[in-house]
Amino acid sequence: VVTDAGRYEVDAVVFATGVKPNVDLALRAGAKLGPTGAVAVNKYMEAGPPGVYVAGDAAEAVHKVTGEPAWIPLATYANKMGYVAGTNAALDKRAVEFPPIAGASVTKFGDLYVGAVGLTETEAARKGLSPTSYVIRSTDKARYMKETREIAVKAVIGGGRLLGMQIAGHSAIVGAYVDLAAQFVGEPAERLFYAEYSYMPFTAPPWHPFAVVGRLWLRNYHRPNGPPAP
Ligand SMILES: Cc1cc2nc3c(=O)[nH]c(=O)nc-3n(C[C@H](O)[C@H](O)[C@H](O)COP(=O)(O)OP(=O)(O)OC[C@H]3O[C@@H](n4cnc5c(N)ncnc54)[C@H](O)[C@@H]3O)c2cc1C
Repeated sequence: VVTDAGRYEVDAVVFATGVKPNVDLALRAGAKLGPTGAVAVNKYMEAGPPGVYVAGDAAEAVHKVTGEPAWIPLATYANKMGYVAGTNAALDKRAVEFPPIAGASVTKFGDLYVGAVGLTETEAARKGLSPTSYVIRSTDKARYMKETREIAVKAVIGGGRLLGMQIAGHSAIVGAYVDLAAQFVGEPAERLFYAEYSYMPFTAPPWHPFAVVGRLWLRNYHRPNGPPAP
């Protein structure tokens, strides 16, 4: 790698420069910034002055767990914000709303997929939500199948609700797990246990790791002085 500060022999390069919202055009149109530094909008993607809508990386959203303004610059949200803003602008009425979000995301380092949604344990503790975490080591299919891949799930629960999940493993199924977890974030933790999961040895373990989280949580809930969760 050649930089203006030197020349380096490397095996890999990781860019971690960060991103920030480009709000110049919106400010010129009379929009205001929210606490995150992105543009404050309501659920109709209206930014204040009549006829001004802001969507995508430039706009704030509401966090599903905290209820606070959040800036989560991802294409998945940008696309839907654009749909909401465009529909309301074109129809000139408040026809559709952009809902609170939990930040479902996934990335890949080498062969390792890493995904997350909602709050981490640290973030939840900082918000005073007194989280308890459950770490489950599972597999992407029944353990006795060929070429099973390990999947690790960390679930963060507080106030009886799922606050967030972080998932890692050497399988693209991590992305699907994040999507599924996103449906549970903010919901009562026992839903993790009672939800329906499909099973056959080729596609999943008989106990889905989310059901195991729900089971451990229920056990601790019903027997608070019982043995600690494994
Ligand atoms: C390296 C990288 C990888 C990413 N990977 C993922 C991923 O895997 N999954 C995911 O969900 N998200 C990913 N993202 C985030 C995703 O790209 C953004 O959230 C998404 O593109 C935001 O869409 P947008 O329309 O708000 O902004 P943009 O896509 O940035 O589009 C804004 C456009 O407006 C133009 N523009 C700016 N100012 C003006 C102006 N004054 N006048 C006219 N035009 C202007 C810009 O040139 C640009 O073309 C990634 C981002 C980066 C940087």
